[in-house]
Amino acid sequence: MPRRDQPSRPVGDVGGESGRRRISRRRAIRNSAAVLGGAAGLLAGESAFGQASAVQTGTQTGRRFRAFMRFANSPRSSVEEVRMFALDENRVVVRTEASQCCYSIVGQALGTTQSPDTRILGHGGVGVVEAIGAKVRRVQVGDRVVVANTPYCGQCYMCLRGRADRCQMLPGYGNALVPIGELADGTRVVQHNNEGGFAELMIPYEWYCMPIFYDVSPVELSILGCVGACGLGTTFGVAPVEPGSDVAVLGCGPLGLSAVQGARIKGASQIIAVDPIRARRELALKLGATIALDPNVEGMNLVARIKDLCSGPTDRRFAGGRDTTVNPNALGPDYVIEAVGGNIVPPMGNAEAGPDPTGLLSLQQAWDLCSAAGHLMTVAIGHQGNFTLPGNQWSNGAKNHHPGNMNGVSTLRDMSRFARLTATGQYNAKALATATYPLDRTREAFRVVADRTTVAAVVVV
Ligand SMILES: [Zn+2]
Ligand SMILES: [Zn+2]
Repeated sequence: MPRRDQPSRPVGDVGGESGRRRISRRRAIRNSAAVLGGAAGLLAGESAFGQASAVQTGTQTGRRFRAFMRFANSPRSSVEEVRMFALDENRVVVRTEASQCCYSIVGQALGTTQSPDTRILGHGGVGVVEAIGAKVRRVQVGDRVVVANTPYCGQCYMCLRGRADRCQMLPGYGNALVPIGELADGTRVVQHNNEGGFAELMIPYEWYCMPIFYDVSPVELSILGCVGACGLGTTFGVAPVEPGSDVAVLGCGPLGLSAVQGARIKGASQIIAVDPIRARRELALKLGATIALDPNVEGMNLVARIKDLCSGPTDRRFAGGRDTTVNPNALGPDYVIEAVGGNIVPPMGNAEAGPDPTGLLSLQQAWDLCSAAGHLMTVAIGHQGNFTLPGNQWSNGAKNHHPGNMNGVSTLRDMSRFARLTATGQYNAKALATATYPLDRTREAFRVVADRTTVAAVVVV
């Protein structure tokens, strides 16, 4: 049996270049943690900001750390000091290195939506394990982990049926947010999704922790933790993109731009990206889109334009092509990914705003675009209101609709796979991390995300 500090495989092996880099990543991180007081693993160009002591306290009781939190029944959000309760036997203490600002929590971060409890915000992040509860087996002290927004327990009904993206350890299944500490005035503090992220420490259950053994920077891994995995999942998950296919991606935020890259990695022949923001369209073209369209320019012609792009010289019914004259439902992309959503917080200034702040227009267009037997992935959030679909098409149009973020991603299996795609340069997370902020400026980072003046903002802790 190998000792715990001597992994039996070369965890520093990147991209199959076995033999060239046989470094124990866990050992390297542990060694540097000892030297740097826990601010280990930040790669060149990334600096550490004020951090709590890394001294181990056994149960961790009373350990102090700083966290960006939203207060109960108040619009206030700010960075505060938290005192830890004793570590739960199923939880892990992770020293945070980076955490990405998901658009879906801008309302909580900026105080425009209600919060019933005082919580550390975040959809997880990236960091190094500093302590584990007595029952934890998945990770060891010194591991770098992605604390994913979606857990993988491996034991529930969903995990056992290939839908770990709906793992029943999510709070949505009635799992309470359990306090992990308190403020100086005794206010009990929970973590968003039982994991937090915008804090010097994350204290998640082990089923949120995905160890990563590839040389990828914390900032890049933070992109993967939620939006990156969600976007890649639209092309790897429930309806994997087939080589040579047509893919349309509506919305080119970090999620849509990950879908563009996933489609490219899977060998799509045509990738049509749609976004009102010029910089995002240009980035889409760099990351694999074959054409980028502005919905404000295309207007109500957008669906017809994309369908036209998906017709071609082989479209003769008896020659393996689609029927271009009789049935318009036969036309359209093989895969349509809707990653637009509605405005959760109105942007300040309306420069390059999309045509519909409710997000319903893009849902309607995505449905109309999807061809018969094609696949429609809807993964965006913040849609406001309802829209109608033709009943006969809903029933018999043979459009395959796959709703829900993470779209078939199994985080324990896929985070490692996605990290390897990043390490080998196939997935470009760096291009999406267009702004970094220290913990003290987390609220400012969310303002920028709400205004869509950057692609993805990452808080480096
Ligand atoms: Zn998220
Ligand atoms: Zn599960």
